[in-house]
Amino acid sequence: MIKEFLKPSNVKEALKMKKEMNDSFYLGGGTKLNNSGENYSADILISLENLNLKGIVKMGEKVKIGSGESLQDLLDSSDVPQFLKDSISGESNRNIRNASTLGGQIAAAKSYSTTLAGLMAMDAEIETADEGILNINDYVKNDMNDLILNVFIPQVKSKMYRNDQRVTANSRPEITAAVSIGKSGDSVSKAIIVLGGLEKHPIRLISIEKKLLDGSLTNADAVQDAVQDEILKNTEKMEKGTYLNYISGVMVADCVGRCMR
Ligand SMILES: Cc1cc2nc3c(=O)[nH]c(=O)nc-3n(C[C@H](O)[C@H](O)[C@H](O)COP(=O)(O)OP(=O)(O)OC[C@H]3O[C@@H](n4cnc5c(N)ncnc54)[C@H](O)[C@@H]3O)c2cc1C
Repeated sequence: MIKEFLKPSNVKEALKMKKEMNDSFYLGGGTKLNNSGENYSADILISLENLNLKGIVKMGEKVKIGSGESLQDLLDSSDVPQFLKDSISGESNRNIRNASTLGGQIAAAKSYSTTLAGLMAMDAEIETADEGILNINDYVKNDMNDLILNVFIPQVKSKMYRNDQRVTANSRPEITAAVSIGKSGDSVSKAIIVLGGLEKHPIRLISIEKKLLDGSLTNADAVQDAVQDEILKNTEKMEKGTYLNYISGVMVADCVGRCMR
């Protein structure tokens, strides 16, 4: 039950409150924190409303997005790269997107988050109040909860493709794949493969990325087999594991193939 609701007027005050109050949580749009289904034990909320964490600004080759921007505002902005919009449009419905913030989406780090998988594939950076600029993958992988101020989206020169597998059109994804492939002539110069749905957070398939870079995966079947082998340790423990293992391999191979063409 929420016992205290704090409204800092600047970032410094918010950090001080977080440090002094054990078990406090920053409050973005509240779609996770206020969701009873989450079984969340948040006693003290620190509202980010007055911190001015808004704005979508083009800065040379990057786009800087304030962490307080709602997902729907990002979908409606002409400055947000299309791949990020495609990723966001996989999230729930308009009501939830109106409330949930980009910072909340990253910090909640849901494994099935299509936005997060997209941001990771775009190699986005985040600015936190405590640690400065970090790669988004490090924030997610290390389960961090530092206050996110801004998100920087680089201009991606690679080809990108994403997909997800759902039981019904309206249910949340069981598996989310987002892939980015840069090519130099016929060879792969950059590869990022993100898969959500297997662990607590979306993961990068680093060993598959390396194999794409060294040219040892030469066709779709080889990519599919390599992905299925790589994730076997995850899927063999899961309910529907055989199916999730197969569908993940197929989806990643399809995304890679489309990026290569
Ligand atoms: C009906 C429904 C459907 C949903 N569907 C989806 C879905 O399809 N995909 C999905 O990924 N999620 C979904 N969610 C979960 C939720 O909407 C997301 O996790 C959401 O993006 C959280 O954003 P928020 O701003 O509402 O975060 P909040 O609920 O305010 O906070 C979530 C977490 O992030 C932290 N936080 C918030 N802002 C910041 C910040 N700036 N810096 C650091 N930490 C911060 C909070 O302390 C908390 O731990 C759904 C929720 C509901 C109720």
